[in-house]
Amino acid sequence: MRLPVVDLHCDMLSYLAKVPAANPYSKDDIACAIPWLKAGGVRMQVMAIYTDVNPESMKLASKQADIFQNLLEENLMDLAYAGPDFLANWKNQKNVGIIASVENAAGFGNETATLDEIKSQFDSILDKCKKLAYISLTHHTENRFGGGNYTDGIGLKDDGKHLLDYMAGKKIPIDLSHTSDLLAEGILNHIDTEKLDVPVIASHSNFREIWNHRRNLTDEFAKEIIYRGGIIGVNFLRAFLDNDVPERLFEHLLHGFHIKGEKAMCFGADFFYTKNFGDPSRIPFYFPLAENSSKYPGLLEHLETDLSDQHLANLAYENALNFYKKLWK
Ligand SMILES: [Zn+2]
Repeated sequence: MRLPVVDLHCDMLSYLAKVPAANPYSKDDIACAIPWLKAGGVRMQVMAIYTDVNPESMKLASKQADIFQNLLEENLMDLAYAGPDFLANWKNQKNVGIIASVENAAGFGNETATLDEIKSQFDSILDKCKKLAYISLTHHTENRFGGGNYTDGIGLKDDGKHLLDYMAGKKIPIDLSHTSDLLAEGILNHIDTEKLDVPVIASHSNFREIWNHRRNLTDEFAKEIIYRGGIIGVNFLRAFLDNDVPERLFEHLLHGFHIKGEKAMCFGADFFYTKNFGDPSRIPFYFPLAENSSKYPGLLEHLETDLSDQHLANLAYENALNFYKKLWK
């Protein structure tokens, strides 16, 4: 029987916000277009509100939150809001459940916003999206909250601490996928010292043990996430898997099981609009075996020799489903 799939990360919302004449059904434009999601058996897809560090970041994030609301209103035949009720009636769902997340807290506050403005922007986005699957403080670069993947040596800043404090108790996980190592460490320390109720996940990250890249998790941080009951979504981007060997994807997926992450492993494919991307060395962005959302069944089938039926179900949907059911119950 084909397994339903949960995926923890795609950039549909920023595609719809930024690209003229963007269409969620356009299979040529974006690899997580609604027809691809349906073909792959995706039952729940997290859609990130992505912004870079930019004076206009708050406006762009609000626009994406509006787009998230509109997507639900305009596509009732195919989409559904993947909140607690959807998760509770999981078996009867036919539509693709969607839930928003925030990738880069620049969407809450640009570099000059006051803390009050940041909090009111946070409340407004949360209000529009109803739930957030996670928040990532940074993207690749540095911002007022901390250091991103490519900013070694920049950790958690005071504004990052304020934001974590504000998130506490709101049932929103913090995402380590775009932190510098020092920021990841700072987040974990701040949560522990202040005894904050903030779950820790990595929504779309691979393992540095398998492919040495700053965008990937060290085993130390991966094990911290596992130990804390979080989830880890494996990323399909070629640059973060292995530039030349497509099958390395399976090694990343299995590595998580090897470090006792059988309750943590998920998919976090990271499909985005690639046509305006500056760096030609990134092409092709994805290997054919994982080039769009229709590919999950094939990937799961390939893993049948290595994983038990239960572990395949864990990876495909159960880990993510159980995580959010427990968080939002
Ligand atoms: Zn990302």
